[in-house]
Amino acid sequence: IRTPMNGVLGMTELLLNTELSERQRRLAETARQSGTALLGIINDILDFSKIEAGKLELEHIGFDLRRTMDEVIGLFAEPAQAKHIELAWHVPETVPSSLRGDGGRLRQILTNLIANAIKFTDRGEVVVRVTLDRIDDSRAVLRFEVSDTGIGISPDAQTGIFNAFTQADSSTTRHYGGTGLGLAISKELVALFGGEIGVTSRLGRGSTFWFVVPFELQGDAALVALPRHDALRDMHVLIVDDSAVNRDILFDQLTSLSMRVDTAAGGQEALDALRRAAGHDAYRIAVLDMQMPEMDGVELARAIRGSTGLEDIELVLLSSIGHDVPIETLRELRVRRCLTKPVSQQQLRDGMSELAGIDTPARILSPRSSPELSHPPTHGSRGLHVLIAEDHPFNQLVAREMLGAIGCTSHIAANGREALDAIAKDVYDAVLMDCQMPEMDGFEATRSLRAREAAAGAQRLPVIALTANAMEGDREICIAAGMDDYLVKPYSQQQLEDALARYTKRQSGGSAAASPDVADAAQEGLDRNVLDKLRALDEPGDSAILNRLIDTYLKHSPDLVRALRRAADAGDAPAVGKAAHSLRPSSFYVGAVRLGTLCQRIEAAAKATPAVTSLALVASAESEYLLVERLLRTELAKP
Ligand code: ADP
Repeated sequence: IRTPMNGVLGMTELLLNTELSERQRRLAETARQSGTALLGIINDILDFSKIEAGKLELEHIGFDLRRTMDEVIGLFAEPAQAKHIELAWHVPETVPSSLRGDGGRLRQILTNLIANAIKFTDRGEVVVRVTLDRIDDSRAVLRFEVSDTGIGISPDAQTGIFNAFTQADSSTTRHYGGTGLGLAISKELVALFGGEIGVTSRLGRGSTFWFVVPFELQGDAALVALPRHDALRDMHVLIVDDSAVNRDILFDQLTSLSMRVDTAAGGQEALDALRRAAGHDAYRIAVLDMQMPEMDGVELARAIRGSTGLEDIELVLLSSIGHDVPIETLRELRVRRCLTKPVSQQQLRDGMSELAGIDTPARILSPRSSPELSHPPTHGSRGLHVLIAEDHPFNQLVAREMLGAIGCTSHIAANGREALDAIAKDVYDAVLMDCQMPEMDGFEATRSLRAREAAAGAQRLPVIALTANAMEGDREICIAAGMDDYLVKPYSQQQLEDALARYTKRQSGGSAAASPDVADAAQEGLDRNVLDKLRALDEPGDSAILNRLIDTYLKHSPDLVRALRRAADAGDAPAVGKAAHSLRPSSFYVGAVRLGTLCQRIEAAAKATPAVTSLALVASAESEYLLVERLLRTELAKP
């Protein structure tokens, strides 16, 4: 089932990357969405039958709880925002993060519950909390809760919903869609974990789905040491948010950083509190929610900046995806940090530390965390030479086209033996290794490769397994065979790119892609290789040409960035595309690869999708441009 699905989804994705008319793009986009939905259902059914047959085994590997949570919640930031629902999460610092168990299946349960919570809620909030139930030397029992303010479930229906193919109320759920499998699978998975799952709910008021599961503690994480935040200790901070849940969570998060925290539910209350405290016990930092009735975050920031005695306070804005505040406004109001909700404890801590002057990162302003921003397109994968070991012509084509689309070259081997021959003859940066191949399969090929490398004292070539079996828990088999990572078919271009980028990063400086120096510069926003090539145009010791190029770029680009923002604010997609199109070539030319790539994506989005996507990208492009500008000025200052 998965192999033809790989063909369908892979080909549709490639089709979408080609020149299409408006109508063709809409049709192809619908085909892709339906395909993805179908794949979700197929996965559910396959999972369910696997569990029914008693064939599903949990993995037992190390994972980081907070990272897992951050990733899962990140998936829902945009859907929640689209429905105007607040999405918040909290894992108190007492909960250990380095755990051992099946992080993937935990993700699956959380994904099911959060997706339902958002699906069945039309206004209000969805809150995810993790608390520590019990802990001993080797094990922690964690309680997860997903609460919503949605339609709720009647007491009668509550008993049945954990059964397969059961929905609470066929009339309302017909409206929401679904198969009635998500909770059944979650229940079975929780049982495999050795835990419990349940729900409390009131019709019309909302529901709280909870589950309690044990995890092994990893290594010395057994001693949960509370982190110290001496630099933040007793710092006075004010939280301004109209949502009581958000205030509670932020209060908890900041208190656990040892800060002294007060809260206000609106702009006027905040101004009163700030003025009262000014002079004797002034607030160092105010955290302002962007969307509040009466006075929004920007208006409040403006009022604060206009008040005497409040000039020194540091301001942090919390906005939502698609509601980015223009960089000019942030600068004007001296807002040092703009965080996108839902904010993790880690981001909050980093933000606070930065404002307190600890570990100030290179970036002046970094409005994180639309999905785009939280995974900045580093394009660590660009320019790699990749070997595709795959017997199926269809899958070969998908891999080759996708690699081409992300700027990699490739060579195809039809089985493990051919792959080994190719590796012996040519230099590759990575191998995509199908697991099932005739003659010699991927596992055997990888084992031989590793043996050869060990014998020759050669460097380890990254091998990314391609597997069709999402369910066989075969990550461990892959790792045991010496593979580094694995992708489940059908994988998306993004997943492929991420896996390769992870690799070039992990290998930092090791693989043939780049020397550490170059990798760092590219990471920073400028590709030093490109600059060096430009510099070579000049006489030794003279940078006239390079300087002129940079000057011209710096002179014209700010207008383009502003035009981009204006067009985005006006929701004028063609103008957005045009501005990005003008900024792109010169950016690539001066080595601003990441900015150029962002422009490329903005152009593509402007052609295809609603402005929400491009707003997030435009915000990244703006902050990326600030960085590029700074780096180029440093370049100009060089002798
Ligand atoms: P599906 O969502 O695909 O129908 P699930 O097994 O995930 O299947 O859920 C079964 C049923 O439980 C849903 O159809 C719905 O009636 C009810 N349900 C689940 N989560 C919620 C929620 N958060 N709020 C209200 N009803 C819910």
